[in-house]
Amino acid sequence: MQKLILPAGLALLALSSCNNSEKKETQQFLITANMDSTVRPADNFYNYMNGGWFKTAVIPETESGMGSFLDIDNRTKANLRTIFNDLAKASPKEGTIEQQVADFYASGMDSVAIDKLGYEPAKPYLKKIDEIKDIKGIVNFVAEEQTSANQLLFAIYIGPDEKNSAVNIPSFYQGGLGLPDRDYYFNQDPATKQVVEAYKTYLKKLFTLSGVDEKTAANNVEQVYTLEVQMAKSHSTNVELRDPQTNYHKTAVSALNSSMPNIGWNAMLATMKVKTDSVNIGQPKYFSTVNGLLKSTSIDTWKLYLRAHYLDEVANALSSDFVNASFDYNGKALMGKKQLKPRWERMINNTDAALSEALGQLYVKKYFTEDAKNRMLELINNLQKAFEVKIDNLDWMGNKTKVQAKEKLHTFLKKIGYPDKWKDYSKVKISKGDFFNNLIACSHNEYDFQVGKIGKAVDRTEWGMTPSTVNAYYNPTINEIVFPAGILQFPFFDLQADDAINYGGIGMVIGHEMTHGFDDQGAQYDKVGNMRNWWTTEDETKFKEKGKAVVELYNGFTVLDSVHVKGELTLGENIADMGGIAIAYDAFKMTKQGQDTTRIDGFTPDQRFFLSYAQIWRSKMKDEAMRQRINTNPHSPAEYRVLAPLMHFEPFYKAFDVKEGDKMFVAADKRIKIW
Ligand SMILES: [Zn+2]
Repeated sequence: MQKLILPAGLALLALSSCNNSEKKETQQFLITANMDSTVRPADNFYNYMNGGWFKTAVIPETESGMGSFLDIDNRTKANLRTIFNDLAKASPKEGTIEQQVADFYASGMDSVAIDKLGYEPAKPYLKKIDEIKDIKGIVNFVAEEQTSANQLLFAIYIGPDEKNSAVNIPSFYQGGLGLPDRDYYFNQDPATKQVVEAYKTYLKKLFTLSGVDEKTAANNVEQVYTLEVQMAKSHSTNVELRDPQTNYHKTAVSALNSSMPNIGWNAMLATMKVKTDSVNIGQPKYFSTVNGLLKSTSIDTWKLYLRAHYLDEVANALSSDFVNASFDYNGKALMGKKQLKPRWERMINNTDAALSEALGQLYVKKYFTEDAKNRMLELINNLQKAFEVKIDNLDWMGNKTKVQAKEKLHTFLKKIGYPDKWKDYSKVKISKGDFFNNLIACSHNEYDFQVGKIGKAVDRTEWGMTPSTVNAYYNPTINEIVFPAGILQFPFFDLQADDAINYGGIGMVIGHEMTHGFDDQGAQYDKVGNMRNWWTTEDETKFKEKGKAVVELYNGFTVLDSVHVKGELTLGENIADMGGIAIAYDAFKMTKQGQDTTRIDGFTPDQRFFLSYAQIWRSKMKDEAMRQRINTNPHSPAEYRVLAPLMHFEPFYKAFDVKEGDKMFVAADKRIKIW
């Protein structure tokens, strides 16, 4: 039930999960067994590095895809499992984080008790819905559930005010839909229709499992779905959501009370414990539509909507028939998975989400070293230097903007491994036998922490990802780059590996996150995180022109039969990928190995650098998952995250002798270079 909301599109990837001491089978950091020697590197570099693996790898039944990220994720999960097993033997003292983590996990593992309860834990909430009599009652239920992280109708996020980034304000974002994106309600292609059918089947199941007869359930679903279609019509598209300016509307609560009176903002905010006189309404069109729908849709239909969506939110905390119903839709239909993950793995994910920094403390104590942190800092500093030189040498940017850009670059807050200050869990009561209420206790604690920040100075030490997460992010309102311990593992990073491997791996990730500070979104924020234009008009125009070329480039890549990459949706990530590899390369060239020519495994240092880059993106995905990714995810598919940046990067041409006629060749005057 815990959810983490980051401002859109900043993470390295939108999949979700280090340093472990397990010995690799050989000390070979380039897994040459994965390569395909029948492919010429200049024709398809991604397949040259990963093609051998691609031909034989079989996606596990429980997964929607596989590759380097899953490998690390599995390694991390095994480590976390060791922690849980050790804790179970230790019977830690009541009230310690060890006890909380151990008992939370144990409560989730007790499938006998959970199954015996059926949907008993949800009944008091369903009763509340049954007793709703008016619009006030609808809004009140929604508001109450927000405090348990059940984000019915909308999402709330507490973070820096984008135009006054030193102070926290609450932001309200559109929500309310059960399909992954508004377009799913309107697209008429067979793949979408299949997903819609699976969604309706799921909703129907939620009704029948909670005591509604088949015929009534089918009718209920149509009412709920019709209401969702009306919400979907008012939703901003995922491309519109990428523009920070058009998603910022700081509004006085008094004004909201008069413009959207049905919502009853004062009462709603009071129930949500939000104390403020102004809020940011991300998408006003959606909220005024909801305001209208509260009146134009019958209370009975609203109650069906709340019942379906409440059960959807808590399904995974109920008995296995609810869990399976949720999996049929979320796992099978949307992601192409065949089988539910084993319970222990799901419970590790749950514990990580619910007691994130409690589990995180135990994780880094055992699996992360200061050496790794120091080495990372050195890499980051070297990339920062390389980026500065790059800015100085840009031929399209004037001096005035350059000064500003460099200032921003040098203001990056660098976070590595885990937070300096841990979140407080002392008020959370966790008991071994009550999974459902354990989840609520954790959600309340996190929610209270979040709303407690409103109106206060921004605490720049806070983290938006848990330490074991295999991912990284840039956050424009803090101007920070963040690398959890989870991603600091091979093939991204290894203390024993040569520089080519680390710079082509985690170096590229560092460069990617840094470039987010200067992609089409990040460039709109200044060095302290305020949305403020620091560009000269001339430079801004040139920058936007270059962005357009990137959009066109990626629009040209086809993935599944007729499905092509969405250039506008993926623009920020693509700029970050293209910049990331270029900055990492320049930093690599400053190292001893970067200036050397000694071959390892038969490859020059430059070749190894590029091969490491292709190696980190080794990935295979189920069609269902790929389709959803293309529709909703701001990242391009792994293959194009490698091919496109390299097709436009001069040093790659030299390293692998790419010539006219090769499939990856792009004429020099057509190559795109932003950073
Ligand atoms: Zn990114």
